[in-house]
Amino acid sequence: MEPEQVVEELLALPIMSVEEARDHAPAKSGFYVWWCEEGAVPTDVPAPPHPVAAFRLLHAHVSPPPREAPKPLVETHTLRTVRTVAHFSPHPDDELIGAPATLMALRDADWRVVNVACSLGRPAQHARREAEVRDAATRTGFETRILRPPVAMSGGGDAAAARRRLLEAVERELDDLRAQIVVSPSPHDRHHAHELVGAAVRDTLAGLGNDSPRWWMWGIWGELPLPTLATAFDASRIEQILAALAAYRGELRRNDYRRFVKARAEMNASLGPELLFGFGSEAPKEVRFVELLTEAARVDGRWLLGRARWLDPSAPLADPSDTAVGTWLDRPTEAGRFGAPGSQGRVEAGPGELGAPLDEEERSRLWDLTLHEDSVFNQRHALFLIAEAMLAVTYATALGAGENLVAGVISAMGLLLTAAWLYVSARHGDKVQRVQERAKAALPDYRDVAESTSSPASRWLRIPSRAVTGTVVPHGPLMSPNRESRWTTWSAV
Ligand SMILES: [Zn+2]
Repeated sequence: MEPEQVVEELLALPIMSVEEARDHAPAKSGFYVWWCEEGAVPTDVPAPPHPVAAFRLLHAHVSPPPREAPKPLVETHTLRTVRTVAHFSPHPDDELIGAPATLMALRDADWRVVNVACSLGRPAQHARREAEVRDAATRTGFETRILRPPVAMSGGGDAAAARRRLLEAVERELDDLRAQIVVSPSPHDRHHAHELVGAAVRDTLAGLGNDSPRWWMWGIWGELPLPTLATAFDASRIEQILAALAAYRGELRRNDYRRFVKARAEMNASLGPELLFGFGSEAPKEVRFVELLTEAARVDGRWLLGRARWLDPSAPLADPSDTAVGTWLDRPTEAGRFGAPGSQGRVEAGPGELGAPLDEEERSRLWDLTLHEDSVFNQRHALFLIAEAMLAVTYATALGAGENLVAGVISAMGLLLTAAWLYVSARHGDKVQRVQERAKAALPDYRDVAESTSSPASRWLRIPSRAVTGTVVPHGPLMSPNRESRWTTWSAV
């Protein structure tokens, strides 16, 4: 096989990374393929390429195996490696509202842009919103995937179930796409669905450790407190974004987000440079529109903030700063602490929901309260069981002695006690659940443990009194003393 043929074969391959190409070429051809960044020419047998080379345009240098001294280069070709950015949209239209200019800039720099629509809104909207997202995709050229079935993420729904499905979907998509960059809402974006998606991306990337792709977050409903990456763009780009966004006719009828997208971009052209590079920095006059993102990188178990910079689509990645931002990413959200917009006044304030963010002391108080409520609940529950057991023994004794009237009175007492217990336990059970919800929002460890054990069955059993009243009431000492009951049969034996 001639070196020229090797080069031709390599160019025909759908090469995803330097590693794949390198593994492929020697096995097939017996030739060595040398890789270097554009412009650089190796003078001797090259060291293993730096991983960052996978993200750059590469030259392939093909030569026979270096049995003797390295031969001069035979040929030089430019190979394009495929680089992928994965965008997670809580709703169809978020890909054109969150960070559309950034995604389009990467697309134009030959990145593969994959937009994953996690939901399609309410069930009645599914057909319309799916048609809209497909129409938008033809306008943007973004590859579009829709999770099947779409994740149900409405405010009143089962948040734990949505969280589990999102975690599984994000992990599966990232495993499939091998993206170098992930774009999503921040976990503090106020909207319930946006925060669920942001948190699922955060937790999935944290699990990938140092292999995790870089994370770029946008903010629509919740402002980004720590922007680090600015994408500058011009009037033709904003026209392109607005024209694509127009595909979402149904959503725009309700609220014309085109106004927001354009106004925010203009606002950021003024605020962005000072927010990124320090107050007193100059805002370049020729930059009319800017999109802001917060970049985070997972390094050695910590979240590091990206370095403040303007986006260069041909080299979009840079080493992160030394600033750890895990305390921001993991902290309870405003929506979790103070309620979703519009819910204020309807939600009864629990501990920690009034005033400043929870500090260490408040968290520890909340934890004490959670333990206290749990143990009071369980103690009452034990007392109830003891009382019922005593009544049952007395009842059986009375029946054995033929004292049907006494047995009837005891049975009535048992009924009253059970009714009282049902009432008290329902009221207290609600309180225990509210405290547990608060603890889950404020204490991530507690949330993880609570949700990992929340199958539908165990959710019902989490308030143990329900299981007990569900079994004790039908089978307990509540049967009519005038009938031959299972209980009397047992006591006779
Ligand atoms: Zn949305």
